[in-house]
Amino acid sequence: MRKQVVRAKKVQKVMLNWIESQRFQDIVKFYSDKNLLDHLAMFKVNLTNNEAMVEHLGCMRNLKNIISSGYNSYEELLNKILGRLDLLSERDEVRLFFDRRILMHRFTQGQYNDEIEFICLINTVFRWIHCDYLLVDDKEDGCTYAYIFVFDMSDYIKAQEGKEDTLKNELDSLTSLPNRVFYSSVAPMILGENMKKGKTTKFIHFDVENFKEYNEKYGAKQGDELLKYLAEALDEVFPESLVAHFAQDHFIVVSSEYNIIDKIDIIYHCVALYSDSEKLEVKAGIYEAKEDIDVIIASDRAKIACDSIKGRYREKYRFFDNELVEIVNKQKYIVDNIDSAIANKHLVVFYQPVFSAKTGKLSGFEALSRWVDPVYGNLSPADYIGILEEYRLIHKLDKFMVSAICENLANLKEEGVKLVPISVNLSRLDFELGDMVSYIDKVVQKHKIDKNLIKMEITESVLMENPDDLKFQIEKFQTRGYEVWMDDFGCGYSSFNVLKDFDFNMLKIDMLFMKDFDTNPKTKKILKAIVNMAETLGIGTLAEGVETKEQFDFLKKIGCNHAQGYLFGKPAPFDEKLIEFVKENIDNKEKTKKSKRLSNNHRTVGRKSIKKNKSSKNTKLLGNHNNINPDELCINV
Ligand code: C2E
Ligand code: MG
Ligand code: MG
Repeated sequence: MRKQVVRAKKVQKVMLNWIESQRFQDIVKFYSDKNLLDHLAMFKVNLTNNEAMVEHLGCMRNLKNIISSGYNSYEELLNKILGRLDLLSERDEVRLFFDRRILMHRFTQGQYNDEIEFICLINTVFRWIHCDYLLVDDKEDGCTYAYIFVFDMSDYIKAQEGKEDTLKNELDSLTSLPNRVFYSSVAPMILGENMKKGKTTKFIHFDVENFKEYNEKYGAKQGDELLKYLAEALDEVFPESLVAHFAQDHFIVVSSEYNIIDKIDIIYHCVALYSDSEKLEVKAGIYEAKEDIDVIIASDRAKIACDSIKGRYREKYRFFDNELVEIVNKQKYIVDNIDSAIANKHLVVFYQPVFSAKTGKLSGFEALSRWVDPVYGNLSPADYIGILEEYRLIHKLDKFMVSAICENLANLKEEGVKLVPISVNLSRLDFELGDMVSYIDKVVQKHKIDKNLIKMEITESVLMENPDDLKFQIEKFQTRGYEVWMDDFGCGYSSFNVLKDFDFNMLKIDMLFMKDFDTNPKTKKILKAIVNMAETLGIGTLAEGVETKEQFDFLKKIGCNHAQGYLFGKPAPFDEKLIEFVKENIDNKEKTKKSKRLSNNHRTVGRKSIKKNKSSKNTKLLGNHNNINPDELCINV
């Protein structure tokens, strides 16, 4: 009897340590109107005989089924429980904490109690678990016992953070992996724990190289299957790490495992084997954190390392290194300086001429941005477009472009120079970050520019994201009297599908067709087919990247309407030279042949209006063409 009292006192001691803590007091207060016992479980384990029994301290809701289904030994019970918990990190540590032999060993070393906290997934819900144990020996039967106290304090933790009851909103619905929200709250804890132990935390960003093409080629459903497959592979290959799904084909793993390169290799081969018909490659970028860092910055650095090897065949991974630090600094500079670059005129509009295939004369310009920076010198769109999109600042550039183009056109008009249409590149995000249609309308009206002089270029990838909204936005532009052109046609898998679903006024044929014009005999046939098809649909055609006379002659022969490329001129700033270029290259005959003007420069429009004028909707859609100011549209000296 006395021994039992002593043992009970020891059990109480560990409980008291915990109970006396401020944290426990807060927890009890928190759970006072809830069922505290639903969140608790206590096991008494005979470590010597490998037996376990549940003591009468309550039983955690989530463990009830496992415990009541029966078990033959403590180890079997433990395996069942651990098998049900999807441990996100520290899997080894949790196992070792509960291991019977290790508990026995600790007892012999005089370590009678300890505690551990970890996060796990139970039935796709994240739970925050706190465990203590107390080891005692029973002189009567000569056995050593462990009292294991388990407490599920997730509701408390979540309430502390002002979040919802469960963590369901932190799971990605497609892959069931933690999402960015969960990553943001858990990764700092993993990093903190590792730092305490002097371990390096690796942030590994995974990205399927050709996922977009795969998605476009095989459809979103197949794309989703690939993502689920990759999610499972990552979860299996990195069992002791946090695996999260951020967006599309972007996954992040937070790991303190040592053999990550081998594991990246396994993932690479898993993905390569996924499809028989498609060469799929997954790339990894690794950022190693030894010190405290914002986990979003850590994941960004891993992504930057990953992006830096895009397109490099068979290069599977890259560590974030000093060279990439430079790139990051440059990107940060771009984000921090976009406003001042616009205000200080470091951002400028360059104009690249477009020539009519029929007349061989200038028929317009494409406006391309250039950043002439006092620190970095000349920056090309490749340096800043992506990063501005990533930071959702691209609308600032594009709004500036429209406004600068209109200003240039207004100046030319004032000087009596005949105007030609100018196309401007719009980003997918322009449609999300405000009402671009209304903005352009306002600027165009302010400068009293004819709507026919501003053409909107959008790329196919824009259409993939949110097709219904885009369709609406395109129609809105057209209803208000602007043409919408499809840029880089033919570089994606779904180009032809897109034509079925959207009404474009012009196809800009991607310059990749010009790249292998001489070497690939099929290219010419494909070009011919595209031009024929566009003609049948009443859409104009403009070939990009035309560099040789042979290419231009061929385009003329197959009936392509316009051409743009170094053969006619490289993008150039708005200056006297450019104005001279306009004057020299415009079509003087246009002046007299008013009726032909429309069909040369705006063949599509002319054809389309004849076809569609029957319906009132289309008359409205193309109404602006009836209001064309011939003096502005035609180019003459
Ligand atoms: P894009 O709209 O397809 O523009 C054509 C690109 O091809 C331009 O590159 C142009 O300089 C280049 N190019 C033109 N002719 C030839 C040629 O004969 N041979 C070769 N090799 N290249 C030629 P750039 O200016 O570097 O622009 C790249 C892309 O950046 C553009 O592709 C466009 O998508 C985007 N971009 C440029 N300025 C802006 C902007 O202000 N806003 C947005 N949202 N995107 C822009
Ligand atoms: Mg373009
Ligand atoms: Mg293009």
